[in-house]
Amino acid sequence: MQNSAISTSMPVRLVPASVGASTVYVPCPGWCTVDHIVDGVNYVDDILHSGRPAVWNVASFEDGGMRDRPVQLSVELGADLASKDPRFQAAHVTVSDGSVYAYLTPEMADTAADELVAFAARIREAARTARLSGVKAARNQADEALYRVRGGQS
Ligand SMILES: [Zn+2]
Repeated sequence: MQNSAISTSMPVRLVPASVGASTVYVPCPGWCTVDHIVDGVNYVDDILHSGRPAVWNVASFEDGGMRDRPVQLSVELGADLASKDPRFQAAHVTVSDGSVYAYLTPEMADTAADELVAFAARIREAARTARLSGVKAARNQADEALYRVRGGQS
């Protein structure tokens, strides 16, 4: 197992890990929140390190069940110190919608964050346009009857 992919400025500690029927001590990045005793593995090379995920749930005004939060994105730190791919060995950022995973270098994550800020501005722009567009929901029959009784005033 190699831990040279982790920056020396990031504290790496030795933590207990359940591997097969044994407990061994393995290097673990300071940001890792995995309990390697609880999340035991069969082989030391199967140990994955991850940080606490941040999750963005997007609400929907549609009723019922899973539709309340139909869009979800998560982001977390990760490192697979036993990976043969140095990009996975190094601390990296994983963005996921729960079914698809995007793995980013820190530089790629900075770019993605900048793009997300620009995307947030587009969300605000769409909200403003919707608010000011004058497009309202059609009145139902009860609202229409009340509208007529009031002489055309809502
Ligand atoms: Zn760890």
